[in-house]
Amino acid sequence: MPPYDPESSARPGTEPDEQAHSSTSEVRDGAGAEHAVQPENAAALEAEIARKDAAELDRALLAAIIESSDDAIVSKDLEGTITSWNRGAERIFGYSAKEVVGKSITILLPEERWEEEPAILQRIRRGERVDHFETVRRAKDGRRINVSLTVSPIVNASGRIVGASKIARDVTQRRRAEEKARQAEADYGRLASLLPVGVYTCEVPDGRISYFNAKAAELWGRSPAPGDPDERCCGSVRLFRSDDMSEVPHERCPMAVALREGRSFRNEEVVMQRPDGSLITVMVNIDPIRDEDGRVTGAINVFHDISAEKEAELALHAQKRHLQTLLGLLPVAVLIAHDPECRHVTPNRAGARLLRIPEGVEFSLTEESRGVRSHFRATRYGSPVARGTAPLERAAKGEVVQAEEIDLEFDDGTTLHTLTSAQPLRDVSGELQGAVVCVLDITELKNSENALRDTDRRKDEFLATLAHELRNPLAPIVAGLEILEMAVDDPETLERTRGAMARQADQLVTLVDDLLDVSRITRGKFELRKRKVDLEEIIQIAMDASRPAIEKAGHEFVVELPDAPVLLEADPHRAAQILANLLNNAAKYTPPGGRITLTADHRDEQVRIVVADTGIGIPPGMLGEIFDMFAQIDRPQERGHMGLGIGLTLAKSLVEMHRGTIQVESAGVGRGSTFTVCLPSSGATASIEVDHPSLSTNGATNPRRILVVDDSDAMVDTLSIMMRLLGNEVRSATNGREAIDVAAEFRPDIVLMDLGMPVMTGYEAARRIREQPWGADMKLIALTGWGQDEHKQRTLDAGFDKHLVKPVLPSDLERLFTD
Ligand code: ADP
Repeated sequence: MPPYDPESSARPGTEPDEQAHSSTSEVRDGAGAEHAVQPENAAALEAEIARKDAAELDRALLAAIIESSDDAIVSKDLEGTITSWNRGAERIFGYSAKEVVGKSITILLPEERWEEEPAILQRIRRGERVDHFETVRRAKDGRRINVSLTVSPIVNASGRIVGASKIARDVTQRRRAEEKARQAEADYGRLASLLPVGVYTCEVPDGRISYFNAKAAELWGRSPAPGDPDERCCGSVRLFRSDDMSEVPHERCPMAVALREGRSFRNEEVVMQRPDGSLITVMVNIDPIRDEDGRVTGAINVFHDISAEKEAELALHAQKRHLQTLLGLLPVAVLIAHDPECRHVTPNRAGARLLRIPEGVEFSLTEESRGVRSHFRATRYGSPVARGTAPLERAAKGEVVQAEEIDLEFDDGTTLHTLTSAQPLRDVSGELQGAVVCVLDITELKNSENALRDTDRRKDEFLATLAHELRNPLAPIVAGLEILEMAVDDPETLERTRGAMARQADQLVTLVDDLLDVSRITRGKFELRKRKVDLEEIIQIAMDASRPAIEKAGHEFVVELPDAPVLLEADPHRAAQILANLLNNAAKYTPPGGRITLTADHRDEQVRIVVADTGIGIPPGMLGEIFDMFAQIDRPQERGHMGLGIGLTLAKSLVEMHRGTIQVESAGVGRGSTFTVCLPSSGATASIEVDHPSLSTNGATNPRRILVVDDSDAMVDTLSIMMRLLGNEVRSATNGREAIDVAAEFRPDIVLMDLGMPVMTGYEAARRIREQPWGADMKLIALTGWGQDEHKQRTLDAGFDKHLVKPVLPSDLERLFTD
């Protein structure tokens, strides 16, 4: 490419004469200038040479600057013909200097720009400069190039405008970048308008809104006028804090703070009230906008409606609270593990109570430091529950645990029996989150189950003992019967045998009586016949009953009673039965030759009777149990003793029916026992009349006519004998029909009649007798082996006055005359 030639730049449009006269002012070709120097003045010549050198240097410097410029530097004459063309021009437009110098500048103009050139030349001719005129030119290869043109007139030495110098800068890149930026801005605007979130920007200093998208307007419920200084930077809606609904003043709204202080806000919740009064909760994110110097020029706010999430969150909170309340109220212990490792476990109120830990305290099943396992041991069927195998731990790993029996043994020695069920807790994707366990305290249930089992076991033992106890007296009776037959001629043997049989029979009767008493008491069918009675009378009856046993064992028997008589409101026979029971036991459970004491005192309206012995004693563990039904201590010393384990139960029931208490003490095995009975005294002294029971008005003074009816001859015989011995007149019959006939003739006061008989039953006979005029006032007494309530009701319905259950004792019959 030819270098820039300043000579040529002066040539076009410059007149030749003018060129000749400008020798001193312009940097020009040296040849022309040399002719203008006059040699006669050497000093002047020298000065001329120096000036020329300097001019030459300026010219070279200018040429170098022009050649090294990136911009196109071109000169043209006033006709638009190109006169010079630098390297920059060559690079930008693709033409070499050779190609374009001498040609019209219009070579560079695209068609639609043709008009520009004459206008530029016109301004140049007027001596004006064109500054940074942005236009488009065409390169040699046809490319359109954005250029910024600065065109200045070239003025010659005589001040004439001879052409124009033109600096063209390629601004295609810049224009492209600007275009891109514009495009990007438009794209961002479009994007923002499509966004489902509100976006807007505000400007410093007055916070006017410079931009907002459609969603922002929708959320505000209004469209503010952009740029309006009266608009508030919060979209001119009222704002409230989401936690307490207190109003946020405009100058404290997040956008105002961001503009003022250049602060960013992330996920800030605020409640907006829109012009129609509706409220929505929005989440706000704000960043300040800064210029190159870091000064805040505005802020951008991106916000979206979270009302639905908020409502769902509130509903969830409410649900959680309800659940929490429910858990607190549940009487069942519930533990929730909030992680699969059971590191964070929370109990409900019942759970905390069950585990004996403070309410509301979280604990861990894995970490010792926050554990609860330190103060109790969990066992399963007697073996410790190993780490990781507790129901909650297994459920937290995905297992469903159903009704597992776990015992919790606490440090204080107490044990809780529990029924434990556990379920895993998973999130929506099925991922394990923890577990929940329900622990039901079944200690009471378990204890009563054990107690029931115990009672059942004792009942079985009782039945075995009962069989044994019944056989004991029956054996001598059966043997006695045979002896009676064999020894009819031996009165002494007969008498001895009869005596032995009578004693065994008494024993049987006592046994059966005790059983019946206990049964009546448990069924609530037992009544005391209370009256005012002297304590001494009671003790006397008891001693009479027990003395044979005490004496037989050779015990020393000491009785100490209060000096003054003491009165009780009691059933004397039953009160005596209590004491006799204790005395008999003392005799029974004290090795021969022991000592038995009975002491009584009277204090604070309480009569205290103490029966103490020096016998085999009672082990401490049994003291609480011996009053239980069928309770017997299994020990060798007791084997062979009579008893069913109901004597003390009966004694205790009788004491309690008298509103008293009974207690036992024993220093231990072999160290004797002491039973203390306390009964309320009647508060009166013996000087007050003691009630005496009306003595039986037996047949000797007031004989009755009695009809005995039974299909068993033996029964007829024994009853008849008993009745006659009591002084009555007796007739008999063996079935219902016969009974009616005999009664019609004999007109008895009392009929003792069996029920199940051939020919006519007792029921039928009773009904018929009642129909007779003479039978209406007769006392009809049913005698039967059936003692159930329904049987009694049937006999009453048939017209009987009373119902006696066999075996009937003389005392029962005696009572008939008094009732
Ligand atoms: P039993 O018919 O077996 O005597 P009790 O109810 O009267 O029934 O007594 C229950 C148990 O209490 C007895 O089996 C015996 O082991 C114990 N017992 C009762 N009295 C005494 C006593 N005085 N000394 C030692 N043990 C006694």
